[in-house]
Amino acid sequence: MVFGLFGGKGRNEPEEEEDDVEPVSFLGPLNGQEVNLKANGRLVEAGLLRAKDLITDAMERRADSVRIDPKGAQSVVTIFVDGMPYPGGKLGKTEANAITQMLKLLSGLDIKERKTVQVGGIKAEFDEKKYTLGIKSIPVAEGERLLVRINDNKAKLETPSDLGMGEPMRLKLRELCQDPGVVLVCGPPNSGLSTSFFGVVRNIDAYIYTIYTICDLEGRSMIQTTAMDREPGETLDLSITKAARREANVLVCEPLKTSEVAKTMLARHESINMLAEMSAKDTASALLQLLEWVGDPALVAAGLKGILTQKLVRTLCSECKLAYKPKAEFLKKLGLPVDTPMLYRKPPEPAEGSQEEECEKCGGMGYYGRTMMFELLEISEGMKQTIQSKPDANAIRAQMRKDKMVTLQQDGLRLVAEGRTSLEELQRVFKPA
Ligand SMILES: [Zn+2]
Repeated sequence: MVFGLFGGKGRNEPEEEEDDVEPVSFLGPLNGQEVNLKANGRLVEAGLLRAKDLITDAMERRADSVRIDPKGAQSVVTIFVDGMPYPGGKLGKTEANAITQMLKLLSGLDIKERKTVQVGGIKAEFDEKKYTLGIKSIPVAEGERLLVRINDNKAKLETPSDLGMGEPMRLKLRELCQDPGVVLVCGPPNSGLSTSFFGVVRNIDAYIYTIYTICDLEGRSMIQTTAMDREPGETLDLSITKAARREANVLVCEPLKTSEVAKTMLARHESINMLAEMSAKDTASALLQLLEWVGDPALVAAGLKGILTQKLVRTLCSECKLAYKPKAEFLKKLGLPVDTPMLYRKPPEPAEGSQEEECEKCGGMGYYGRTMMFELLEISEGMKQTIQSKPDANAIRAQMRKDKMVTLQQDGLRLVAEGRTSLEELQRVFKPA
C-alpha cells in the first residue's frame, strides 16, 4: 500500500471501496503540445496507471500538492493537505522514475532533459470537476524531485466573505478603493495571495466604479472588470494616463515587485485608485519595503491609502470538532468576549488499536479546508507622521496598535470565537519560524 496516508487505518481493508472511484483523467498539456504516447509505449506502460493512482489518491484526500523526493534506493512521497505535509509512503526507484517521467511527458516537458528545472501543466478531470496540475521537475543530487500542484479550477474562494473577512473590514476596504491612491494587498509567498487580491477587486462595487485591469488574471473570470489594451512595452505611467482619461476609477496593476513600479504608482497617486499585490511577510515589512523603493516618505504618506495583509489558517472539520466551555478568565486573557459560549478543538487521536471509526469527512485530521486572517493598515494622521519619521517595524506596529487596527492575531481570535478554527491551530501558524 503505497499511499496509506493518514495512519493507514481503513486503508488496509478490502479494496472494493477504491474500485468505485473513477481515476483522474489527463486531458492534455497546458502548453497545447501534442503528447506522443505511442512513441513512448514503454514509459506509458510503466508509468501511466501509477501516475493516475498517485494523483487520484491525492485528489481524494483534497491534497493541494504532492512531492516525490529521491532518497537513496527509494523515493519519498509527501502529500500536502491544506498546506500541511503528510507522509504519502515510499516508492521504489523505478516506480518513482516512471511516475516522474510520465507526468513530465503528459505536461509536454522534455523527458530526456533531467539536468535543468522544467515547469509545465496538465489539464485534468476528477469527480466531474476540472483541475489544472502544475508540474515542476527539479534536478537534485540523487535524481529528480517532482512537484505536482493540484489546482481546482472552480475553487470557491472568490469574494472577501468567502475568504473569511469580517463585515467591518470589508466595508473599510471598499471605502479605501473609492478615491485615488495606492492600496496594497500583501502576504507571504504561496499563501493564497493572488486569491485574496482578486477577492479585494471583487469587493469593489462594480455598479458604481469602473475597474480596469493590466495584470494577469491567471484564468479567473472577472466580469466586473475591463482588461485594458496595452501597446507592447507600454509603461505603467502611460497606462495610468490612458485609464484616467477613460474615467476609470480603479486600475488593477501587476504585482508590485520593483522600485520603478512603486515610484510610478506613488507619483501618480492623484490620478486614479491603484491596487496591487505585493509579497511580504507582514504589514510592517511591506511598508518598510515600499519606503525603501520609493525613497520619499512624504510621498508615501500622501499617496498610500492602505495595506491589507493576509495569512492562511486551517478550519476545523464541521463533522468532528469538539466543543468545550472556556473559563471566563481564560477568555479575558485572550481578549475574547466573556460571553463566548463555546470554543472548539479537533478531537484527540484515537488510542492505538482502538476500533473507533475515524471521521469520514476529514479522514481524522480534524481540519477541513482553510480560511484567511486579515489585518488592515489605514493611513491615519499618526501613521503619516510615523511614515515620515524613518520608522522601524516596531514603530509601525506601535502606531497600528495606537490606531486600534485589527491585527492578524486578533482576526484569528475572531475565527476561534466563531468556532471556525482552534487556539491550537492559531498557535501553530503564529509560531516563529
Ligand atoms: Zn472530521
